[in-house]
Amino acid sequence: MFDEVDGYSVVGAGLEGGQRRFYVSCRHCGEYQIFEWGGKDVTHGIKWDKDEQDNALSETAHYVCQHHGCVIEE
Ligand SMILES: [Zn+2]
Repeated sequence: MFDEVDGYSVVGAGLEGGQRRFYVSCRHCGEYQIFEWGGKDVTHGIKWDKDEQDNALSETAHYVCQHHGCVIEE
């Protein structure tokens, strides 16, 4: 009944501040966390490398665990 998020194990979904939130469990440490896109100022979430022109390299995308910094490759 929950949507798939790129192969991550979605354990729940809900609305928070009007935004759809997905709860996932880390494949490595098993901790639950809100699936986030992350950003420059946060250490967890979706991360990817960039080339010299600052273009996102989607094939390098990975998820960094909020709790223990585990790297989850797709
Ligand atoms: Zn983890």
